[in-house]
Amino acid sequence: MASPTTSSEKRVPSVIAVINAERCTGCEACREVCPSHCIELVEVARRTGGAHPWCEVDIERCIGCRLCVRLPRKRSDRYELKICPWDAIEMMPVDYLPQAVAQLEGPAEFLAQGRPRLVAAATRLLARRTSASPPADPAT
Ligand code: SF4
Ligand code: SF4
Repeated sequence: MASPTTSSEKRVPSVIAVINAERCTGCEACREVCPSHCIELVEVARRTGGAHPWCEVDIERCIGCRLCVRLPRKRSDRYELKICPWDAIEMMPVDYLPQAVAQLEGPAEFLAQGRPRLVAAATRLLARRTSASPPADPAT
């Protein structure tokens, strides 16, 4: 009998949503549609007063459904609604995720904390995806 699936054994999607903190205004429109509730609002107090908000995807919980990018999901559908008014969300291949998120720009707080957090999560996710892949067929 097969053992129950643990969270680390869950299938890792091939693409994951990543938010460009430089473009994001923290409007939270993407949070409203995410079925996994994996988009979080980050608010950092500015030295000059007020707060600088942006959203971050918890990429280890993202299921790659694309709903935060556009509705409906299929490109063949004629009706299209873009979710982010600033085109700040991009679906990125997990295979290149650590390098891709390491190049993201954004506010100083994002560069100091958010970006390293994303790189670490992307590295873990890629390791999970790699370890879950079936071994290569030696005949090919
Ligand atoms: S791709 Fe889907 S699960 Fe991932 S952040 Fe967007 S809406 Fe949420
Ligand atoms: S919809 Fe776009 S601008 Fe609004 S919080 Fe999401 S990523 Fe940021």
